[in-house]
Amino acid sequence: MAEINIKDMLASYDKKNLTIATVCSHSSLQIFNGARKERLKTLGIAVGEKKKFYDAFPLGKPDEFLIVDNYKDIAKHSEELREKNVIVIPHGSFVEYLGAENFLKLDIPTFGNRNVLMWESDRNKERKWLEGAGLTMPKEIKDPHNIDNPVIVKYHGAKGGKGFFIAKTYEEFSRRIETNKSFTIQEFVMGTRYYLHYFYSPIQDNAYKLSKGSLQLISMDRRDETTIDEVQRLGSIAELEELGIHPTFVVTGNIPIVMRESLLPRVFEMGEAVIEKSLKLFGGLIGSFCLETVVTEDLEFKVFEISARIVAGTNPYISGSPYSELIQPDMSTGRRIAQEIKYATKQNSLDKILT
Ligand code: ATP
Repeated sequence: MAEINIKDMLASYDKKNLTIATVCSHSSLQIFNGARKERLKTLGIAVGEKKKFYDAFPLGKPDEFLIVDNYKDIAKHSEELREKNVIVIPHGSFVEYLGAENFLKLDIPTFGNRNVLMWESDRNKERKWLEGAGLTMPKEIKDPHNIDNPVIVKYHGAKGGKGFFIAKTYEEFSRRIETNKSFTIQEFVMGTRYYLHYFYSPIQDNAYKLSKGSLQLISMDRRDETTIDEVQRLGSIAELEELGIHPTFVVTGNIPIVMRESLLPRVFEMGEAVIEKSLKLFGGLIGSFCLETVVTEDLEFKVFEISARIVAGTNPYISGSPYSELIQPDMSTGRRIAQEIKYATKQNSLDKILT
């Protein structure tokens, strides 16, 4: 990271001619659509051939494509991309396809603080950050012999909940665990899930004010996960488990949701605490982030994960959410990112939101 000097890279940029680029997956339709609404140029990075399905969505299609053989090759095109004044908008798949190391080294101006990756991808550091901010996380069970309530077992590095399983006893755990993989055991929190989509601007003071900059709540969703979310159509989970059918947590889509209004002050307090702590720990998270939470019957939030960039759960809101409508009509997270880039360009402070 240290060798990337964002000011040097930006020095040669034609600021009136910026191009928003991302990998063609995840939330790219929304990112391109948001940039288009802000009259910024767009470029889609795809492997093999241009993604045909974009032709069906003219308002979500990038102005041009960069076709690479492998996502790991993006760095080979960095000079060409910089000549096009590209600003990269990373999303979950972008980082995963490129690999964390390549992402950190990518010498193209990138929206957000890349240092956050170290803190969100290491479960111990993530806990230090979130608990240090005063948030409640699900309890961690260090010794599987101590399982005496339902737990969720998470394999490290598994994406989108793949391979996760529920156990209620040590016996159940030991029957299902794949011992060759590293894992974490967490209390399975009973309640309802809310995935909260925030936007933090370190350079604008026109929203919920923090010690530096301000915070917005753009939208929220609930993930649709197969098979856990619909398995009950076939019978109770206990019945099915007896037959050897176990629920899984693979994300297949996202469902729009709102929460009772009396919980919103807490939502902002949590967002604020996460940002303030990030400023102390690593210079601050920038832009979009998501707290993945379960609200218990006592109306307490338990936060089981943070995603430190645009999440796919924002996709239901391409033309705005019940929350973003109260900020500005027709504003998605993708559009909000484009607006932040435009604002920073006008203020000559792009280096404060890009790394
Ligand atoms: P991603 O990186 O895509 O966010 P992941 O693979 O890191 O996903 P998690 O988000 O931690 O996985 O968990 C996947 C799913 O498992 C969640 O969306 C949620 O439904 C469920 N889940 C995770 N932790 C808990 C918990 N402690 N209690 C109840 N359910 C949980």
